Amino acid sequence: MTMLQPRLILQLLSLTAALAAAGCQSTRPAASPSSGGRQGAQQPAAIDPCAERLHEICGSLLMHYHLYKRLPQQLSDLSALDAIDKPIPLVCPLSGKPYVYDPKGFDLRGKPGRIIIYDPEPSHSFMRWAINVQETDGPLIADVLDIPEQRFIQRQNAPPAAQQ
Ligand SMILES: [Zn+2]
Repeated sequence: MTMLQPRLILQLLSLTAALAAAGCQSTRPAASPSSGGRQGAQQPAAIDPCAERLHEICGSLLMHYHLYKRLPQQLSDLSALDAIDKPIPLVCPLSGKPYVYDPKGFDLRGKPGRIIIYDPEPSHSFMRWAINVQETDGPLIADVLDIPEQRFIQRQNAPPAAQQ
């Protein structure tokens, strides 16, 4: 576990509660932009609206999985969930381009599960934000990751994974 300053912990507690409500795991706790005093200690996720949006999509994804026991056929299916008051824009806030949804996904080495939703372009300092999911016997496990473009290139050169 990461060592955290008390003030940061307080912020994280409220955020954790919000995320717990959405059921989305966060390996990169968000913090308000004003708390960015410690250079290098914070992840870019802390202030990135794209990561925040993906967290919201994560929440809808978990809800969909809970209701239907499967992933949506297309990302826009999430907008049809009754429980969502206002649909989440399914585009990267920076590039304005739609997120890529690939239910089959691809592996990211060293990480269980697979990447199913990601930025269409490396718009974030040569990184893409993405959602990694693990299907289990119980609830879906989902989290938001930032993936360096290098790893995307490696993925594209790799042989296609398990196409059926
Ligand atoms: Zn983005």
